[in-house]
Amino acid sequence: MRGSTEHHVIVGGSAAGVAAALALRDHGFAGKVTVVDAGAELPYERPPLSKALTGTESRFVVPIVPAEVYAERDVDLLLGTRVLALEPARRLVVLDDGRALRADRVLLATGATALLPEVPGVRLPGVLTLRDVRDARELAGRLGRGGPVVVVGGGFIGLEVAAVAREAGAEVTVVEQAPRPLERPLGPDLAGRVTGLHTRRGVRVRTGVSVLEFTGSGQVDGVRLATGEVLPAATVVVGVGVRPDSGLAERAGVVCDRGVVVDRQCRTSDPWILAAGDVTCQPNPHLPAPGRVEHWDNAQKQGAVAGAVMAGAADQEHTELPYFYSEQFGHTLQMYGRFADGHTFVLREDATDTSFLGFWLRDGRITAAAALDRPKDLRTVRPLIETGAPVVTADLSSPDTNLRALAKSAKAFKPLERSLASGAGAA
Ligand SMILES: Cc1cc2nc3c(=O)[nH]c(=O)nc-3n(C[C@H](O)[C@H](O)[C@H](O)COP(=O)(O)OP(=O)(O)OC[C@H]3O[C@@H](n4cnc5c(N)ncnc54)[C@H](O)[C@@H]3O)c2cc1C
Repeated sequence: MRGSTEHHVIVGGSAAGVAAALALRDHGFAGKVTVVDAGAELPYERPPLSKALTGTESRFVVPIVPAEVYAERDVDLLLGTRVLALEPARRLVVLDDGRALRADRVLLATGATALLPEVPGVRLPGVLTLRDVRDARELAGRLGRGGPVVVVGGGFIGLEVAAVAREAGAEVTVVEQAPRPLERPLGPDLAGRVTGLHTRRGVRVRTGVSVLEFTGSGQVDGVRLATGEVLPAATVVVGVGVRPDSGLAERAGVVCDRGVVVDRQCRTSDPWILAAGDVTCQPNPHLPAPGRVEHWDNAQKQGAVAGAVMAGAADQEHTELPYFYSEQFGHTLQMYGRFADGHTFVLREDATDTSFLGFWLRDGRITAAAALDRPKDLRTVRPLIETGAPVVTADLSSPDTNLRALAKSAKAFKPLERSLASGAGAA
């Protein structure tokens, strides 16, 4: 028998939702925990979906935790079930199977949906997005039949798919509207280096051009660019960003602004509802302004804080330095923090085409750092970003600087509380 009659419901069983469920137990919640997810599969990791699409399915369908963990931790999984509505006044979570769950608190961890451009032909078979395991299965099947593959959007997922498709032997073209793929998250220098990993392997990269339409009848066979040129395509993968799945929150009257607005404790404007993961617009002391952080690490850590707060751990806050990684052609790209306009870029001078460490600075402090195949160096400089310890540009650019010694200085430095918008903050 459970030690409490309380019932907490988590909508969305992915990085944020599963982390929250386990954190509820870690923090001693003794009531009922239900995770509801529209997908039928045991909750799985999304990052492998774009990195391991060849070979057997077990390479890209990786459970977040083994099935027995849910039983051991007394977490009920309600899979293949969609939440249709939240009714705060009656504290009900309305399901698509006709039932409604009574909940003492609800966590929205509904993530995001891949965007599609509004151009003719976008619904043709063979024009795919990649967000869930069904998308991955279809793409893996198509890659097995060869190319040509056109990737629309040179973001992380697009470039990872381009790399996997090229490694599988397909002709691959990436179409990107901006001057370079990844220019927004990495800036022109590092974006150029990552793009080079692709062009040297034979991926064609078309930049500064948009897509006018997808051609074909009954099946996509080409991508017409704004230049008029048509790129032949057996498969098109669109990776042009996501929109947060905040509809349930909006319909329940929760404040949303580019996502569900939360405070550091994942509380929304409705005291009954918390939110975590890709669906949230969150404050973070390491971000220039509240925003969405659409990365696995953030979703897990924010979800864990949400679970702790739901369990009554009033001191828990999500203030983690944003982190992401990406894998392309066997290289690992990692980044801590985020830079904004006006931040100065500094490259460590031992950078090559296949290895680099770069920093962004504001007022003599590091706001972000990115590395290709230099995980140790990046980890070493992390405390410098977290604390906002003052640094000298020449120390960062010189390959002779001992990064460990530099980082030691950060440990003696009192953490900087950067300006922070307060977020929603329910009572
Ligand atoms: C292909 C791919 C590769 C990625 N690679 C990386 C990477 O290398 N590094 C990195 O840092 N990040 C990566 N990401 C991003 C990372 O996976 C996301 O940030 C993370 O999955 C967000 O987790 P989440 O729990 O917030 O939401 P999601 O993972 O989007 O999960 C939301 C869940 O909610 C469910 N749901 C939504 N609405 C409802 C409803 N009404 N009722 C019931 N269930 C509902 C959905 O079925 C889904 O399972 C990748 C993402 C994708 C798609």
